[in-house]
Amino acid sequence: MLLEIEDLHVHYKSYWYVQKVLNGVWLRMSEGERVGIIGETGSGKTTLLKSVLKILPQNSLIPRGTIKYKDVDILKSGEATLASIRRKEIGMIFQDPMAALNPVFKVKDQLHDVIKYKLLSEGHNPSKEEIRGHALRALDDVKLPDHDRVLESYPFQLSGGMRQRVMIAMALISAGKLLLADEPTTNIDVTIQDQILRLIDRLVKERGLSAILVSHALGMVRQMTDRSYVLYAGDVMEEASTDELFNHPMHPYTSLLISSAPKISTRDIGEGIRGKLPDYRSPPQGCRFAPRCPYAMEKCYTVKPKRTIVNSAHIVACHLYE
Ligand code: SF4
Repeated sequence: MLLEIEDLHVHYKSYWYVQKVLNGVWLRMSEGERVGIIGETGSGKTTLLKSVLKILPQNSLIPRGTIKYKDVDILKSGEATLASIRRKEIGMIFQDPMAALNPVFKVKDQLHDVIKYKLLSEGHNPSKEEIRGHALRALDDVKLPDHDRVLESYPFQLSGGMRQRVMIAMALISAGKLLLADEPTTNIDVTIQDQILRLIDRLVKERGLSAILVSHALGMVRQMTDRSYVLYAGDVMEEASTDELFNHPMHPYTSLLISSAPKISTRDIGEGIRGKLPDYRSPPQGCRFAPRCPYAMEKCYTVKPKRTIVNSAHIVACHLYE
């Protein structure tokens, strides 16, 4: 296994209350696999990805759970091990490049730093010329022209699409093995979202990387991943090979999510899913989807559903299948 997450609980505490966001998440992936995570905004997808790199905000708590990357226990590892993993093994593309890139440094300074620390962590002290060479190749890889202008720009001087390409270039430098892509097209003009996703898809394939893609674009998750997880309110609802998940969804939430996705082949607008995500300060005791589920039974409100293994490629957490 490349990555194995088991029973992961993540809470956010404030002075007044605790928000219980992740509620026992599991995820497994092998080397070379491409995994999709789908679910509504606020389901804990970003928290899950940040947990893998242990870059959660300071007010977070992990009361239970394990994250194993190869044979490293991420949650018990010290800063030196984590820094090495972040520099040369796992890279992350963040949702909002404007927030992820430092606004007071030029692209050149930020890109050069990532390259320098990656090479240092590999035991090589690079010269300025070498770093620049790597930076130019990184910009070429993400099809960014006009290198000098890009490198000399501050993030706000670039368009949203260019910023995201810079972000992808930086993430790929660190992603020797695994790329985490968190809603990589959320803040980008709709006309270039497709280009960005295809760029990520091509680079992942060319480099033989493993990848986790979190996206609202269900069509892209369907095209780009081998296996998918459905996350709702901090719980994994269903896991299956991507083809099986989209062709034969079993969990009521997955079925509703897929049927709510807008389709250009019809004039109908999906009805969406009634209700909203629960309040993480006092989430439902049993199935977190129960208040919105058309099939909810009495048991669903008090007992958390267990994982039911349907077949070797399909797991569902719902009382209907126990
Ligand atoms: Fe619906 Fe119950 Fe299944 Fe939850 S466990 S999805 S409430 S049927």
